[in-house]
Amino acid sequence: MLIRNAELNGLRVSVRIADGKVAAIGQGLPDAGGPLFDAQGGALLPGLHDHHLHLHALAARRNSVRCGPPDVSNADTLSLRLVELDRHSAGWLRGVDYHESVAGDIDRDWLDERLPRRPARIQHRGGRLWVFNSAALAQLDPGPTDPLERKNGRLTGRLYDGDAWLRERMGATRPSLADVSRELAGYGITGVTDTTPQNGPGDLQAFASAQANNELLQDLRVMGGDALHGADASASQRVQPAARKFHLLESALPDFEACCRAVRRAHAANRNVAFHCVTRTELVFVLGVLRGTGTRLGDRIEHASVTPLVLLPRFHELGLAVVTQPGLVHSRGDRYLTDVDAEDRGDLYRLRAFLDAGIRLAGSSDAPFGEPNPWVAMQAAVDRRTREGRELGGAEALAPDEALALYTSPLSRPGTAAPGIRSGMPADLCVLDRGWARARASLADVRVRLTLRAGECIHRATRTSAPTERMA
Ligand SMILES: [Zn+2]
Repeated sequence: MLIRNAELNGLRVSVRIADGKVAAIGQGLPDAGGPLFDAQGGALLPGLHDHHLHLHALAARRNSVRCGPPDVSNADTLSLRLVELDRHSAGWLRGVDYHESVAGDIDRDWLDERLPRRPARIQHRGGRLWVFNSAALAQLDPGPTDPLERKNGRLTGRLYDGDAWLRERMGATRPSLADVSRELAGYGITGVTDTTPQNGPGDLQAFASAQANNELLQDLRVMGGDALHGADASASQRVQPAARKFHLLESALPDFEACCRAVRRAHAANRNVAFHCVTRTELVFVLGVLRGTGTRLGDRIEHASVTPLVLLPRFHELGLAVVTQPGLVHSRGDRYLTDVDAEDRGDLYRLRAFLDAGIRLAGSSDAPFGEPNPWVAMQAAVDRRTREGRELGGAEALAPDEALALYTSPLSRPGTAAPGIRSGMPADLCVLDRGWARARASLADVRVRLTLRAGECIHRATRTSAPTERMA
């Protein structure tokens, strides 16, 4: 394949792709008769990486009804939406994105009034709580050892942190990844890290087969639990087991010593550790654990949603990388401005402070909990504006090139610089619909015209294709 008229480091170049690699870069490379793509001056960039998301949950979410802001903001709208769906579709009804600002602390009785017969489950926006109606509870067949919440012996319909149990009860039906993977490719994404804590060898296998049958187009790193210690990494170069994921919850922190032992086990199994960490208390706990156990290059903190400046030197001492979600400032910022104490707001989703302290920083979506479009997230990293246009933590803003770098750093080493585009490197590339000078001025407007993963075309915008193009 030959890409012509691409902008690379400010120059117009042609790039030849052969055997999955960049074979040559130059001005006026001859057309050898293979597929041809006219970049029309669009910037040629490394393929992007989303360093933290949940693929199966994202796919499931695409088949779900939204039950929270900004789509649904009050109880009447939600009730109408549920009753309407009940009338026009069948089977389990799956709601996502619920927030208590809509209708308070809902339970089975609230749902039963709207959905008396059809099994329904609604997930809280935070991802850790499901609420079931009575019809759903009946199908789940609760027993003495289930993790469902009870009050005075009666099921409330709430299930906290019970995804593993739920999966077991409902069967591990994994939705197809085809649509979400194509969507990600459309943003220029060639590699992702699935950070679902429950991932085990079965999931690794499922991801590998999704890739083998072209349902999953990206390279993938798979975090998960202890069950992934010693997982077979040889099955596929493109799906590799990754860090042991720890999902902390401030209200139920694990035993400190037990947590240290789990970290040591992961390190002994040659794995990194990654800690979900969204509150100050969780952060202090993790830093304490890692100070006790020591760290391994590649250990990371996910989210670091609230980071007091005084803790930054500890990240640095421990050599930790931070994988953050700049896009949440855009999608959730308005709520943060209402819900988060004024004195904590400056600590939210820091960016600049991490870079200034020499801490490796990478970007991600946390989809489906955040929006998967990295260009919107880069824009939010630059302007720190909420959906309604209010500023949140303006001092943490990055320059556009720094925002891009959050998404181009290698999957295996988030927060380190991407190797430049040169001959011999794997052809994981994307071509924008505009040059970089225009792109950096308005990142959220960027469209990706072509995405290649190891030289394979995994996305090509149809609308804007030039007449001079030829595809195999
Ligand atoms: Zn996550």
